[in-house]
Amino acid sequence: MAKSIQRCSFCGRTDREVRLLITGESGCICDACAKQAYEVVQQNLENVGGNGRSQGKYSTLRMEALPRPSDIKAYLDQYVIGQDDAKRYLSVAVYNHYKRLLQPNTDDGVEIEKSNIVMVGPTGTGKTLMARTIAKLLKVPFTIVDATVFTEAGYVGEDVESILTRLLQVADFDVEQAERGIVFIDEIDKIARKSDNPSITRDVSGEGVQQGLLKLLEGTMVNVPPKGGRKHPDQDYVHVDTHNILFICGGAFDGIERKIAQRMNTHVVGYASVQNVAQIDRNDLLRYIQPQDLKSFGLIPEIIGRLPVLTHLDQLDRTALRNILTEPRNSLIRQQQKLFKMDGIDLQFDDDALEYIVDKAVEFKLGARGLRSIVEAIMISPQYELPSSGQKAFRVTREFARQQLEKSTVTFQ
Ligand code: ADP
Repeated sequence: MAKSIQRCSFCGRTDREVRLLITGESGCICDACAKQAYEVVQQNLENVGGNGRSQGKYSTLRMEALPRPSDIKAYLDQYVIGQDDAKRYLSVAVYNHYKRLLQPNTDDGVEIEKSNIVMVGPTGTGKTLMARTIAKLLKVPFTIVDATVFTEAGYVGEDVESILTRLLQVADFDVEQAERGIVFIDEIDKIARKSDNPSITRDVSGEGVQQGLLKLLEGTMVNVPPKGGRKHPDQDYVHVDTHNILFICGGAFDGIERKIAQRMNTHVVGYASVQNVAQIDRNDLLRYIQPQDLKSFGLIPEIIGRLPVLTHLDQLDRTALRNILTEPRNSLIRQQQKLFKMDGIDLQFDDDALEYIVDKAVEFKLGARGLRSIVEAIMISPQYELPSSGQKAFRVTREFARQQLEKSTVTFQ
């Protein structure tokens, strides 16, 4: 009897048309189809997270592939100057967040709880920069929101729930992903109660907002309007559970040094008389910040309890400002050099020109934020003239920087 012809059950080709045909009990598969099937399986597995849930556009969390805290800090170091303490706290917080998401369901009764963090530091010292930088590295949805826009329900402004709308948007409305995300709340100090004594007048942007935020921080099921804005009765809501969302808060807490000083029963030495001394003491005082100082500043104790990790950022000194000009991977000077390079011009800055820029930033009390405006003011003429001049190199000297800044129409005072 003639041997029956065997065919691949997927593509229908016979055993003569393929290199290899694997036969099973009730069907066959050829080498080409087997290879394709393998690739499909791999692709699907890659889209599934450690807990077996779909990861959408976010890569799989695997313990062995996670960046360690020192890796995260090393990455931050490339963009943010100084602020070692805050970097370490932030790196550990993010790493622990991943671990929490991956924690096995063992019956030892140990559940890793989340540790939301609060970063206190003068304005312009790198809080937002740090959050933006870490965002590039994260394997979970991340968003930055500004606490100043929130007001108590019923007033003009946004409900606190809109924080979650942003997170949902970042996660392409994948609720499971949003529920694993990280939110950076900037300017958290702006929702502090204005005075330590509860007031009888309504505090539109103060305690009511803190109460709203508290629910989110604690972990609760929230009805989120998917398009943001105010809630209204006939709207469809998305239900988001905030238990696993990590909150990182940042704020300048202007004047908190006094509260720290009061607590420590010290005085700000040289205040008003010798400015520099006051500056140094101010930096030192922030180092001693404790949760009760946040309470004296006007955060309610329940919120403070939900932000168990407290860290600070240092005021940037001359050396830090000088480094900010040249050291970060996308420093202001590198950006200028790149702009000129695109015109085939090699741009160099003399050291004393850089010192001059720092001097001016210090003199105008603009800190790191001022560096950019000063550099822009100095470079406007060369940016205008050089591309059409045929020049191949340009050196910025201190004298040139001074002349340009003096004739600049921008006022920095
Ligand atoms: P804030 O602490 O008020 O959030 P930002 O992070 O917005 O301050 O800082 C403002 C700008 O100043 C940043 O965009 C960055 O260019 C610069 N800057 C501030 N601090 C640093 C720092 N530590 N390292 C590098 N650049 C910094």
